Amino acid sequence: MEANSSGGEDCCVKVAVHIRPLLGDERLQGCKDCVTVAPGKPQVQIGTHSFTFDHVYGSTGSPSTAMYDECVAPLVDGLFQGYNATVLAYGQTGSGKTYTMGTNVKDGEQNGLIPRVMNSLFSKIETLKQEIEFQLHVSFIEIHKEEVRDLLDPNSANKQDVANGQAGKITIPGRPPIQIRETSDGVITLAGSTETSVKTLKEMAHCLEQGSLSRATGSTNMNNQSSRSHAIFTITMEQMRIPNDDNLTDCMAEEYLCAKLHLVDLAGSERAKRTGSDGLRFKEGVHINKGLLALGNVISALGDEKKRKEGVHVPYRDSKLTRLLQDSLGGNSRTVMIACISPADINAEETLNTLKYANRAR
Ligand code: ADP
Ligand code: MG
Repeated sequence: MEANSSGGEDCCVKVAVHIRPLLGDERLQGCKDCVTVAPGKPQVQIGTHSFTFDHVYGSTGSPSTAMYDECVAPLVDGLFQGYNATVLAYGQTGSGKTYTMGTNVKDGEQNGLIPRVMNSLFSKIETLKQEIEFQLHVSFIEIHKEEVRDLLDPNSANKQDVANGQAGKITIPGRPPIQIRETSDGVITLAGSTETSVKTLKEMAHCLEQGSLSRATGSTNMNNQSSRSHAIFTITMEQMRIPNDDNLTDCMAEEYLCAKLHLVDLAGSERAKRTGSDGLRFKEGVHINKGLLALGNVISALGDEKKRKEGVHVPYRDSKLTRLLQDSLGGNSRTVMIACISPADINAEETLNTLKYANRAR
């Protein structure tokens, strides 16, 4: 019995579990539901194992409103106070990461977290725009095999090729690789990636759509590519107070603030299996695990208050993913990890792995 009793309130990382329903196919295959939630408690049970998290969102009802309000809305509010933040969706392929994040707008899902973030961001800006001038930028990148790919680069996906079914055969010669850099004051930047300036909700939604299209067409096999890469949608918000004698908002103590929110649809957490005869996929798996492994270590170091006080080294530099998120994980920033799980008994082993990983993050 792995009971976890420590409260998560004082920790800078919050962990929620999102259990998707059994899918039609799984029901047809005769899969059984093997995950139970303790009534009235954020506790998940699988077999003899029991885990407690900050929140558990079950397979019934529409959990995404509660998830947004409890886990993500505080991070959006924090942006207006200048705090960076990160939302991560973790879990095996098929567990609902993309559904939860709303990364792939082609699904027609408006309930995902990213569309909700965009909606509430713009409605909040609307109420403040008399006093504050806002500038918003969006970037959307993918990390695959420790390489950063720009999903908003207009040259990286060609719609004509998509229509012709030629997607995946596109090669982009001579594009300089995107580099993760750190400024002298610790701000992480992505040199060489597209930062699209957006003024409206529609423009921001368009970026999400463009990027998810580009993500899907970047590979001959969509499922493989997207399950093996981390997709990171980042909103950067700058605020300048408009000089005005009366009615200054107390929302903003400084004249200028800049903060960013990373919304991350992580690579599938399933164990690398040697499926290709040439071992190629195995290598990809190793790379992906590098990001997820480093992320686990970083979050675990951040969550351990004793370690933090002792100034224990946080291994941000061990992967591109953690390097990129460095200024938005820990410190003053807020982090939410949403562990996505399938309730199906055939997925029990991976589900248990996901819960263990998430439990380590608390
Ligand atoms: P992942 O991104 O982790 O590989 P997906 O988000 O693509 O997984 O989800 C796998 C399948 O399960 C999709 O068909 C998706 O629509 C469905 N699904 C995921 N989460 C839910 C949910 N909470 N409610 C209903 N269907 C879901
Ligand atoms: Mg996905």
